Parts: sequence; C-alpha cells; structure tokens
Amino acid sequence: MRQFLSLEGRTAIVTGAARGIGKAIAETLAARGAKVAVVDLRMDLAEETASEITAASGIEAIALEADVSNRESVNAMIKSAVEKLGKIDILVNNAGITRDGLIMRMKEADWDMVLDINLKGAFNCSQALARPMMKQRYGRIINISSVSGVTGQAGQTNYSSSKAGLIGFTKALAKEVGSRGITVNAVAPGFIETVLTHDLPEEIREMSMKLTPMGRFGTPQDIANAVAFLAAEESSFITGVTLQVDGGMVM
Ligand code: NAP
Repeated sequence: MRQFLSLEGRTAIVTGAARGIGKAIAETLAARGAKVAVVDLRMDLAEETASEITAASGIEAIALEADVSNRESVNAMIKSAVEKLGKIDILVNNAGITRDGLIMRMKEADWDMVLDINLKGAFNCSQALARPMMKQRYGRIINISSVSGVTGQAGQTNYSSSKAGLIGFTKALAKEVGSRGITVNAVAPGFIETVLTHDLPEEIREMSMKLTPMGRFGTPQDIANAVAFLAAEESSFITGVTLQVDGGMVM
C-alpha cells in the first residue's frame, strides 16, 4: 500500500539546493521517494549534495547548474532536467540571497540583485515549467518566502520586498493554474540556522530568539518537513497559502 505523503514516482527540482534549507528539502523529498535535481550556482557543492542524497536514499539525484536570475540559464537547466528525469512534478523555488542595508545606503545593484534572484528567479523557473505541468495536469510549486516578507524588516527593503512579492506571486499563479491540478504555495521560514543567518550580529540573534515562542531557532529540516507536506498528492486542496514555519515568531 502507498504510504501517506509518499512522493514515490514523482520528480522534483529544488533551486539553491547545494546547501542550507534547499539541501534539506532535496534530501527530504528524496527520502519520501522523489527523484531530485539539485540546482545551484556552484556545481562542486551541488554534485556533492546529489551524491550524498543518492547514497542515503538510493534515489536518483542529479546536480544541475543554473543561475535562477538568468532566463537562458534556467531554460537550459529545465530542458536538461526533463531529459534526465523524464518529467517534473514538483518545483521548489528556494534560491535566495540577502544584501542588507538601510535604504539611505543601499546600492541600486543590491536592490536589483536581490529582486532578480529571489523574485524573478521564481518567475523564470515557474514560467518554464508552467506549460509542461499544465499538460500533465499535475504540479506542485512551492516558493520559499520569509517572515521578513510578511512583517517587513528594517535594513531589508530589498529582501522584504522580494519575499512579500513571492507571496503575491504565489496567490496569483495559484489562481491561474488551479484548474489544471497544479497547486502553488509559499513557505515563510522564521529564523533558521544556516550560512545566511550565521554572521548576523549577536543582538539580532538574541532579539529573534526572544520573539520566537518555541524558544529555539529553526532548522533546515523544519522547513523541509513543511515543503514535503505541500509537495504531496494529499495536499491537493491546499493552494495559494503561505505556511509560516517560524516557531510562532509572527502571528
Ligand atoms: P544559503 O545557505 O545561502 O543557501 C542558498 C543557496 O542558493 C546557496 O547554495 C546559493 O549558492 C544558492 N544561490 C544563490 N543565488 C543563486 C542563483 N542566482 N541561482 C541559483 N542558486 C543560487 O541560504 P538558506 O538560509 O538555506 O536560504 C534558503 C532560502 O530560504 C532563501 O530563499 C532564503 O531567503 C530563505 N529563508 C532563509 C531563512 C533563514 O533564516 N536562513 C529565513 C527565511 C527565509 P552560493 O552559495 O553559490 O551563493
């Protein structure tokens, strides 16, 4: 009998999956039975991650290079993923960066780069997969937003805009493709221990901890668990939502 929330027979693309939250997502989807494409800028790390996943789960995992902000690069990656894995059922738009600074000092290049990777990257990947997903009348698109996109964060006008934009994008696309069996949802992590948060000043870490009722920082696995749930067939009546996985930080 098929296991509850099994992803057997499914295939997934996870962007920014060489490390951090994306890596945990790729590992978890594979552990539930999905073949995965580990997409990242850095091929050495992506290949290492893909090999680790195959070794741990016995499931096919491949590494593919792409800069999600570049449409040609994304289209080539999707083509190669379809050639190698057959079809794509699940897309996780996880690749994201921060370039923090107060607005008075923020460089235009830092605004553009964050919006191009975090928001346009999700558009590029989703657009490339919309047609094949519509044709197969099945798809799961999951966008990794942030609590910063829900509440706004000082020093992050670029990042908060990109993550709030992803929430709007999620809802709009959910309305466009719902009738074709495709769900589109967002996950908004709170403070998660990764390279992205490692170098934050101690006072910000302390403040974040105080604001988190669960009394701990999140782990990449906490986010991966939520993504695996939304990626499953059983979640077919959940679309357009933003699932906050933040230990209660924002409510
Ligand atoms: P991370 O450790 O920095 O990992 C992000 C990965 O994305 C890296 O491997 C990075 O590659 C890759 N990447 C960056 N730009 C890319 C591009 N243009 N094309 C393809 N891949 C690219 O970050 P994380 O903490 O795991 O965050 C993952 C996602 O969760 C992000 O969207 C982030 O905004 C979101 N999030 C994180 C937290 C948190 O507390 N950590 C909270 C809320 C939301 P390089 O190493 O080569 O740059």
